Amino acid sequence: MPVKRPAFTPLIAALPSTVPFVGPEAQERARGRLFHARLGANESSFGPAPSVIAAMQNAADQMWKYCDPDNYDLKAALAAHYSVGIDNVVVGEGIDGVLGIACRLFIGEGEPVVTSLGAYPTFNFHVAGSGGRLVPVPFKDDHEDLDGLLKAVKHEKARLVYLSNPDNPMGSWWETPDLLAFIDKLPATTMLLLDEAYGETAPAAALPPLDVNRANVLRIRTFSKAYGLAGIRIGYAIGEAEMIRAFEKVRNHYGVNKMGQVAAQAALADQDYLASVVTRVATGRERIASIARENGLTPLPSATNFVTIDCGADGGFAKKVLDELLARDCFVRKPMAPVLDRCIRISVGLDHELDFFAEELPKALAAARQ
Ligand SMILES: *Cc1c(COP(=O)(O)O)cnc(C)c1O
Repeated sequence: MPVKRPAFTPLIAALPSTVPFVGPEAQERARGRLFHARLGANESSFGPAPSVIAAMQNAADQMWKYCDPDNYDLKAALAAHYSVGIDNVVVGEGIDGVLGIACRLFIGEGEPVVTSLGAYPTFNFHVAGSGGRLVPVPFKDDHEDLDGLLKAVKHEKARLVYLSNPDNPMGSWWETPDLLAFIDKLPATTMLLLDEAYGETAPAAALPPLDVNRANVLRIRTFSKAYGLAGIRIGYAIGEAEMIRAFEKVRNHYGVNKMGQVAAQAALADQDYLASVVTRVATGRERIASIARENGLTPLPSATNFVTIDCGADGGFAKKVLDELLARDCFVRKPMAPVLDRCIRISVGLDHELDFFAEELPKALAAARQ
């Protein structure tokens, strides 16, 4: 006898039961063994500033209270930091949370949404969950293809286009003149979700000036990467006030937690620590690049906290290298879309983690070549 239960909506019934990421914890459970180096999720192994940890410790006994659902103090601090109005800022549960709401705001059933083939998978997940139809544009020379994206937007009359700059998984970036030309050519009826998760580690030239009068651009950033607070789940978007106000209609007003508000404000206030992390990330990128070269592989230029390494053969070979690294307790990831999939992606880690990677990579390569 089939069990009777309420039917899911047609949208939910049609969705696959897949998740965009299998976390390292799930992999550790499946292996029955912990990873020795955690270099796969682009977190910041350097962690948050000591001043942030102190602020969180100090606030711990206040956690019985609900958070301020307006995120007022954090929004005010962000507005001051970026010299924009408080009504130009919305805070959410990481960039992932902000992207989910943006999808709900702009995607109607079956509507086209343009992104790059192999770009950030959580965005695709939200598009699917909103009933949108993804229009993926291949990367060109390991960069998101601005002309290709624009062409697809116009051809599909898409209301939404996603661009990550710098991008994940390749680490590439565009600079202001190219980005502004792209934005200028976008139809006013197309919203650009500009994901700047790695904005802090990018050269200043990769971040066009903020323009909150531009109603079709949403700039989205996070405390998860350079600020070292991935577990606290705080991201934010900056944009034109009326568009930002629309987030109030559907956002989870208590979704951001009180500890996160405390941590993010303290992190924003400690720009010296951020600067020190940015320097350490640059050093770590160089280290990963030289490890790659020592093994005859090609590191790609990166403006992020990771380095993507071309393994010099096809996706099947890179997958073997990945599996051999995982088997050697080195948690890394790789791009999945064809052509990009010839690479593996290594997050900057602590010195001892990169030492471990340097030791294990030659063994993984040898095993993959057998
Ligand atoms: C890591 C990452 C995110 C996730 O950010 P959260 O604020 O932790 O949700 C979003 N976009 C890109 C491109 C990323 O690499």
